[in-house]
Amino acid sequence: MTAVDRIVMCVFDGLRPDMITPTLTPNLMRLAARATWFREARSVFPSMTRVATSSISTGAMPSTHGIVGNAFYFPQAIPEHVLDVSVIADVKRAEAATGSRFLTATTFADQLAKAGKRVAVVHTGSIGSTYLINPRAKANRHWTFSIFGGEATETPEAVTEVIAKFGPLPKRELPRFQETDYAARVMTEFVLPDAANDVAIVWFNEPDTSYHYKMLGAPETLKVLAHVDAAFGRILDWVERQPNADRIAVIAASDHGQISSNELIPLPELLTRAGHPTQHAKARDLAGAAIAYTGGNMGEIRILDGGTARRDAIARWLAEQPYVGALFSPGRNDVEGQAPGSLSHAVVGLDHARQPDLVYVLRSSDDPDPYGLPGLCRISGGGIPVGGGMHGGLNRHELNATLMLSAPGVETARIDARPTGIIDIAPTILALLGVPAAAGMTGANLLGPALEMTTRTHTAGAGSFTHAVTVHRGGDRLILDQGRHSSNSPRGI
Ligand SMILES: [Zn+2]
Repeated sequence: MTAVDRIVMCVFDGLRPDMITPTLTPNLMRLAARATWFREARSVFPSMTRVATSSISTGAMPSTHGIVGNAFYFPQAIPEHVLDVSVIADVKRAEAATGSRFLTATTFADQLAKAGKRVAVVHTGSIGSTYLINPRAKANRHWTFSIFGGEATETPEAVTEVIAKFGPLPKRELPRFQETDYAARVMTEFVLPDAANDVAIVWFNEPDTSYHYKMLGAPETLKVLAHVDAAFGRILDWVERQPNADRIAVIAASDHGQISSNELIPLPELLTRAGHPTQHAKARDLAGAAIAYTGGNMGEIRILDGGTARRDAIARWLAEQPYVGALFSPGRNDVEGQAPGSLSHAVVGLDHARQPDLVYVLRSSDDPDPYGLPGLCRISGGGIPVGGGMHGGLNRHELNATLMLSAPGVETARIDARPTGIIDIAPTILALLGVPAAAGMTGANLLGPALEMTTRTHTAGAGSFTHAVTVHRGGDRLILDQGRHSSNSPRGI
């Protein structure tokens, strides 16, 4: 039996749930009053947009879907530099090298297509994220619009149709007020009025962009957050005007949170000086490098020259640095990583065939930023100003994502604090439309029976360096709670 007629999902990139308040975001609060709010929902690791998007679309961890970073070294497709999932040419080379299985899992859109159902997406985020929400949009006979134009989507006719009706794509500005309004108009005046769209999704690139470049709690950021909330309000108004409003499910979500940066660690330069020549992935050049490297507030290291001896030397060196908070590597067993002081990638759901040799996370704390929002981290450069927001790591304020669901049979005005995550979105969408989940979807239907979850904290370290990750597991379902290290816990770990 189909529970709902349609699903409307609005994703607010990066939105921290503790910034959802009656004054800042009255329309999200309006949804909360008729929804269940999964207040402890979590992103995945790395808590980056393209990785998280893939977990939203596939209902699975990176260990299943294979997008192990916003950028990662993938020599099978691109041996000469680090693959950047936001660059269309890189994604095309990865698709060619993998027989169109760059994303190595089935999406909810794939399942819906098999059931004859249609997904329409209005996307203002990066090309990679637009692609990964429904990578087989064309074969699925679905519709994906991108604010970046026809080259940025599998279905360029969507952009042609939208421009014909709404005029030229808006100019880039920061904060992204115009893009928000344009996307909301495409939703309310084009996508939603077409009843053939069983699932209608809008992905707002704010507040993520302003968090990064204008600071999390800055007046301009709060202004654009209120603006996105107002755009969401117009979508909610549209839903409430429909005669079958009570049979339309509404999901509000974010892909991850963000925390403020407060210190720059020039890690590529420091690694090079320590005898491991490398440079930022953005250089798109590995000439003379002993390792491939990505940065942010976490990143990956792939050994190009020197094998496990170099990997272990780097792990030991990183463990001695006062700014390093966690290390992960391929498993020696389910918990311990092979590299000294590291936890296994399996602990955080990153144990894919494409797993990096080593993953580091820079230290973060729950200390307040200049605007009083908890969460501070180091960054290793790469375009974000010090003081700007960042995400990717395991701090609970970057892992905590927004997730609200309003649908028939869902309790209203309820806060649900159980362990849930963005991996639960895909199975829930499918269940709401009466379509079976795909094999490999380890997330749970949020409307299904409560699942038993066991909470465990895994610890590793070397010398005075110790770090721990707390996770919830139930069968194959893995929800990350948070990572900590010896300096941000008063009792050690
Ligand atoms: Zn994001």
